[in-house]
Amino acid sequence: MAINIVMPKLGLTMSEGTIIKWHKNEGDMVKKGDSLFDVETDKITNTIEAKEEGILAKILIGNGKSALVTAPVAILSDEGEDISSFVKEEKPLEKDIKVAVHQSETNEDGKKKVVVIGGGPGGYVAAIRAAQLGAQVTLVDKGSLGGTCLNVGCIPTKVLLHTAEIYQEVLHGKDIGIQIEGNVKVDWASLQQRKENIISHLVGGVTGLLAANGVEVVIGTASFIDRHQIKVTKEDGSSITINGDDFIIASGSEPFIPPIPGVELEGVLDSTGALNLDALPEDIIIVGGGVIGTEFATLFNSLGVKVTVVEMLPYILPPIDREVAAAVEENMIGTGIDIFTSAKVTTIEKDGEKLKVSISLDREDKVVKADKVLMSVGRRGVTRGLNLEAVNIRLDRGAIYVDNGMRTNIEGIYAIGDVTGKNMLAHVASDQGIVAAENIMGIDSAMKYDAIPACVYTKPEIASVGMTEEEAKKKGINYEVGIFPLVNNGKTLIMKEVENTMIKIITDKKYDEIIGVHIYGPRATDLITEGTLALRLEATVDELITTVHAHPTVGEAMKEAALAVKNIAIHAVNK
Ligand SMILES: Cc1cc2nc3c(=O)[nH]c(=O)nc-3n(C[C@H](O)[C@H](O)[C@H](O)COP(=O)(O)OP(=O)(O)OC[C@H]3O[C@@H](n4cnc5c(N)ncnc54)[C@H](O)[C@@H]3O)c2cc1C
Repeated sequence: MAINIVMPKLGLTMSEGTIIKWHKNEGDMVKKGDSLFDVETDKITNTIEAKEEGILAKILIGNGKSALVTAPVAILSDEGEDISSFVKEEKPLEKDIKVAVHQSETNEDGKKKVVVIGGGPGGYVAAIRAAQLGAQVTLVDKGSLGGTCLNVGCIPTKVLLHTAEIYQEVLHGKDIGIQIEGNVKVDWASLQQRKENIISHLVGGVTGLLAANGVEVVIGTASFIDRHQIKVTKEDGSSITINGDDFIIASGSEPFIPPIPGVELEGVLDSTGALNLDALPEDIIIVGGGVIGTEFATLFNSLGVKVTVVEMLPYILPPIDREVAAAVEENMIGTGIDIFTSAKVTTIEKDGEKLKVSISLDREDKVVKADKVLMSVGRRGVTRGLNLEAVNIRLDRGAIYVDNGMRTNIEGIYAIGDVTGKNMLAHVASDQGIVAAENIMGIDSAMKYDAIPACVYTKPEIASVGMTEEEAKKKGINYEVGIFPLVNNGKTLIMKEVENTMIKIITDKKYDEIIGVHIYGPRATDLITEGTLALRLEATVDELITTVHAHPTVGEAMKEAALAVKNIAIHAVNK
């Protein structure tokens, strides 16, 4: 029975391929695994092997011709089979395919009116992009521009973590040849002031950028009246109505506080409360060993606070590659942090000046006391108060449902950032904002979630992109792993952050394509950009290997980890 041999899809972004050379001629016998043809994409060249046995009855796409992926390139038949009814000669692909760009609609004054709700990294970036593309943009925020990220998230946590890191460096100055005389202590009040100064500097920057792009900013709480109007209630209780052709909802997220008895007690904090403490506590219990919980654990522990982490899962940092997370956990325990995994907080009670936290563990129950309890078990999208019912916006498990173009189910209304419940990260919100603004203004744009970097600012840092080993296994991918321990890297040694640190690269065995990069070590959060670009470009491990890396850098270890995939690392003993 005759079958079509088709142009395979060799990578996520491949849409067509050019046949460089057929290894078989018409009439040749083909066995399973025989080399059939070489195909070249804009990225890679691969030899395609036969999956079926038969006679190569007809070549439809010859040498030097291109075809779209999944288009037939040849016919395989049984000996003597008549394929005349089967043959429909495929046309080679025209090379100059044009991408359709829609023209934006405009209202009477010639400009499309775009209204953005929320001025976080999603909303303000969307507003600027829409304005760049010629829209008349109004941005509404009920709080401070910059949203969670600038005011109570990414930036303030990193300001505090930076000081905590320097403090530790100074305390251990003698390790690097610095003798310190006298007391070294953290001035929490002036650190808080520094944090506020940096926030207001950055918020001022965002305000200036919005003004420079002609975006009108309205401070107040937005709620939908109908598909084309929102009501904005200002702090003094007055309200205005704003009309728009298109809307972008970027209302972000807020901490999720689970209904544990005692969470309402004074001293039980969310991440915002933990950032704004008047003074450092003696001890703190952190409920949740995810990214935010782990960063706060590092922060408080580095500043001399006794830290206990309680995590419900059997491990901390659930989204991180297990091997890396285990190394982090070991290091955190080594710095004096108590970590209870497979553990559940059952109650929080007042006990004199302290809070008493009851923890249910696998085999026993435990009670830990501390001055403060930080709840960091997750965040959920802010949809409350937006009156989404008025426009029938579809929700999916509490988050606003969107497609990859950031469109909701209602035409002309888009949603971006944390409120969509996708990757709750500032850079994702910003990229989604650009996608939404471009689609509104007639440029076809879509989010791709395959190469999203994620960073955790522990000491050392953690950063990853792409699949973890567990995910690769679960997806049934035939994968290879290369690990380079950073103890073998000069720059890491100089920075004395060698304990358990590593770069781990995961590749798809078939094409040696890099599908995951996981870094635990100094500069991880900067280095991950190389891994992200590698995934974005569907790079193979050879492309990383043949890239010259500067010395001495932690980045050299990326190349070594790539070499380790092939068991030819130079600065490590191979398996
Ligand atoms: C402690 C902490 C640390 C973090 N660290 C990092 C990090 O290091 N890196 C990273 O990538 N991400 C980090 N994040 C996550 C990051 O802050 C969020 O992913 C990001 O801020 C989401 O952006 P957004 O624009 O969707 O929403 P948000 O930044 O939450 O902004 C939403 C805005 O909408 C406004 N708003 C809400 N409802 C209304 C309404 N009805 N009317 C008017 N305005 C409204 C709010 O006032 C707010 O300003 C951290 C988060 C926290 C809590």
